[in-house]
Amino acid sequence: MTDRAADIDILVSEVGPRDGLQSIKAIMPLEAKKAWVAGEAAAGVREIEVGSFVPAKLLPQLADTAELVRFAKTIPGLTVAVLVPNARGAQAALEAGADKLTLPLSVSETHSLANLRKTHEQVLAEAKAIAGIIAALPHGQRPHFEGSLSTVFGCTLEGAIPDAQIARLAEGLMAAGCDEVGLSDTTGYADPSAVRRLIGLVRGVVGERAVTGIHLHNTRGLGLANALAAIECGLDTLDSSLGGIGGCPFAPGASGNIVTEDLVFMLEAMGLRTGIDMDHLFAVRTQVAAALEGEPLYGFTPDAGLPKGFSPAAAQREGGLA
Ligand code: ZN
Repeated sequence: MTDRAADIDILVSEVGPRDGLQSIKAIMPLEAKKAWVAGEAAAGVREIEVGSFVPAKLLPQLADTAELVRFAKTIPGLTVAVLVPNARGAQAALEAGADKLTLPLSVSETHSLANLRKTHEQVLAEAKAIAGIIAALPHGQRPHFEGSLSTVFGCTLEGAIPDAQIARLAEGLMAAGCDEVGLSDTTGYADPSAVRRLIGLVRGVVGERAVTGIHLHNTRGLGLANALAAIECGLDTLDSSLGGIGGCPFAPGASGNIVTEDLVFMLEAMGLRTGIDMDHLFAVRTQVAAALEGEPLYGFTPDAGLPKGFSPAAAQREGGLA
């Protein structure tokens, strides 16, 4: 897992600049992306997935990822995360200076072929190659390397994936040299009971410490319920997207990450510190909305506002209420 600062309980990892922007047609200018990343970091967000190292012809929305990584690296205290589809992308990510690399491995082989154009064995070979590149770096310069089990709650093409297959692939990622395995509800099929079950299944294979994060979508309205189930299982890293922008362009029907604003509100209200200032976050939302004119933004808390007398988690502790 990423080094967790002592002053937060849950790491909210913003994925909007990657997952969000890759699934909308509009191409956000680099300057607007920089303002978004800088704004969220200033609001207290500690980790941001700023892009993906895929060929620009596949995802022109993310063609400036290397430049955005270099910019984000100038922000103190921010973990700069990126998605990499293969060793070549990982090499580019390392050259740009990324702190965290995530390689998606779709547990549905049909989806893997559609998404990465690779079989499971080919993706595991890429994972091994990436781990080798990282291991060759000096200590202190090695980024965190996560293998993410995508479509783990079910695939739009194959439906449910057998447990044995999920277990084998989780084991394969760790054997290839990943630092941890993440769970990804690419298709928005998860429910709280499935979240608990899958976390247990994967932990049973790779150990508790190797499963800390989950990537959820709100496709069927269960995003926050699923997030709560994951937290109750002890996971401490949750992906979300400002305004719920996002989805997976290769999984028809899947749209919308869980909304950062609503997630932070839930966590802070529960007394779980995120380090994020909500009013500041709302201001960033307004700024991103202006840069993405015409794109729908989701979430309830920004419109409803904070409850009267709302006390964020850190203040609850100071007041002895927690
Ligand atoms: Zn996603």
